[in-house]
Amino acid sequence: MTLRQILTEPNSMLRQKSTPVQIVDKDVQSLMDDMLETMYAAPGIGLAAIQVGVPKRIIVLDINHKEGSKKPMFFVNPEIIEKSKNNSTYEEGCLSVPGQFAEIERPDRCNVKYLDYYGQPKEIKAEGMLATCIQHEMDHLEGILFIDYLSKLKKTMIIKKLSKQKKTIERIVV
Ligand code: ZN
Repeated sequence: MTLRQILTEPNSMLRQKSTPVQIVDKDVQSLMDDMLETMYAAPGIGLAAIQVGVPKRIIVLDINHKEGSKKPMFFVNPEIIEKSKNNSTYEEGCLSVPGQFAEIERPDRCNVKYLDYYGQPKEIKAEGMLATCIQHEMDHLEGILFIDYLSKLKKTMIIKKLSKQKKTIERIVV
């Protein structure tokens, strides 16, 4: 397994739409292994392939990790087949939008079909934090970030801050 670099906003790749995976083969599995390791190291609870620069419809999640035991979940070509009308609000952050958090409202339940780590078709009824995380990660596959749900003013401010941070980081590295 290899740690991959996580892309941060602003970066045009993060705005790209990811394409479906044709076959879940060894290469796809090794990408998922890398993604999981990168996510744990960050640390984060979810990661989409595009965040490490691979425009494929793959996400990894582990919302239990904080409690000590690892329970990784792998979603290839996820599709939301049903969403609840009720919403819930969580304060969201994103490994590609470092240090920024905002309250985002999303449907509180969703049914998702996907292929698992072995390419087997699966379906899950997600609710609460898991439902929010899946929807957040699935947005990445469409090139959407959580800051897109904020007012234009807030979003512009965050992007400005991140651009400034990037410049500072580059100066230190050089
Ligand atoms: Zn994210």
